[in-house]
Amino acid sequence: MKHFFDTLIIGGGASGLMCAVTAKQHNSNKSVAVIEKNDRVGKKLMSTGNGRCNLTNKNICSEKYSGSFVKQSEHLLGKITADDLLYRFEELGLHCICDNEGRYYPLCKQANAVTDTLRFACERLGVEIFCKETVKSLRKSGDCFEIKCNENIFTAKQLVICCGSKAAPKLGGSASAADYLKNFGHKVIPFSPALCPIKVDNRVLKSLKGIRSEAKAVLYDQDGAAIKSEHGEVQFTEDCLSGICIFNLSLYAVKGYEIGLDLLTDISNKELFIILKKHKELFSNNTIDELFTGIFQKRLGQAILKQSGINDFSRKCNSIKESEISVIVNTVKDMRFKVEGNCGFEKAQASLGGVFGREIDEKTMESRRVKGLFICGEAIDICGECGGYNLHFAFASGITAGENL
Ligand SMILES: Cc1cc2nc3c(=O)[nH]c(=O)nc-3n(C[C@H](O)[C@H](O)[C@H](O)COP(=O)(O)OP(=O)(O)OC[C@H]3O[C@@H](n4cnc5c(N)ncnc54)[C@H](O)[C@@H]3O)c2cc1C
Repeated sequence: MKHFFDTLIIGGGASGLMCAVTAKQHNSNKSVAVIEKNDRVGKKLMSTGNGRCNLTNKNICSEKYSGSFVKQSEHLLGKITADDLLYRFEELGLHCICDNEGRYYPLCKQANAVTDTLRFACERLGVEIFCKETVKSLRKSGDCFEIKCNENIFTAKQLVICCGSKAAPKLGGSASAADYLKNFGHKVIPFSPALCPIKVDNRVLKSLKGIRSEAKAVLYDQDGAAIKSEHGEVQFTEDCLSGICIFNLSLYAVKGYEIGLDLLTDISNKELFIILKKHKELFSNNTIDELFTGIFQKRLGQAILKQSGINDFSRKCNSIKESEISVIVNTVKDMRFKVEGNCGFEKAQASLGGVFGREIDEKTMESRRVKGLFICGEAIDICGECGGYNLHFAFASGITAGENL
């Protein structure tokens, strides 16, 4: 069947739904439709924030983002602040609360509520939604875009690409946006996984599998310069480091870099040296792997000893030399892991890459190459840290496009 709309939005996720709602709020006479390849809209949105959806943050600013659109994002983020976004959601019926780290969630702490709020607004405002639609071909003919899908053929005066990135393919992640935009002559940076566990190499890593530890994690480049540091819970898996602080480092980590973990941030090297010397005396007749009693769980303690070159756990604590205690202290305060790469799109919450920043007018989100073509969300080369920054950008870009269609 053939359909004509003023505006067609490809992708019924965070940016696409917000764009559709804003476009109709702005001009109710405009006919607006969303096409979505999944059997329902907002599937990824419903999995965000561990099912609770961390939709924005008190500290929204461009410093929290990486990619070629960062500089331009200042305009967008200055215009659509967290307060502005929260007000818009409140007007649609969604009330939010802030946790003690500045992250906003729906009052009911359920991500479904965010999708439902946007879906209901679409229904109320008369946005047409076509699910299970796969784009077969897409072209601009004269002033109109023609989009052939498996079920329907759409013609529209304006086209908005909101198909996200390749992250989390099971939830709808795809490279479609990059393919469509390349066809329109846009410069597109290949997607790479971001906000994901980091694959590392370290001979004791396997023995740490399943352990979680508070740590300061510092990313070092090949020259040993510290690039970025984060604090939080680090989770050890068979071949990766994981946890929110590691996800944030993944935006910058490449093979050849190193991650150093400070496993006791509140205790200085000097203090730890004194504590371990005392433990040597207190536990003098215990085996060496009891040295960390009351400090670390046994498996972590054993891994620290191995990493410090102490492999014989039948030794008694009283056999430890002061020089060995110094090495142990250095390991605890800066346990090194070689970065091997990332864990792929399956485990990534977002992507770097997408359409090159300068190809979009940040005041409208319209392409600078193709008139009538707009681009929002993760299809753009920008990625924020964990904490609600990516959804904020998706919503803010959707709103900006919606107001300028
Ligand atoms: C597990 C997980 C948890 C996350 N948690 C958070 C969080 O708490 N806070 C936060 O800020 N960010 C979070 N993110 C990131 C956030 O979800 C994304 O940055 C955001 O959804 C991007 O919005 P978008 O509109 O660009 O893309 P999406 O929301 O991914 O929407 C794109 C839509 O387009 C559809 N689509 C793709 N290709 C086509 C096509 N060819 N034709 C038709 N439809 C198509 C997809 O099915 C999808 O519905 C999380 C991501 C994941 C995977």
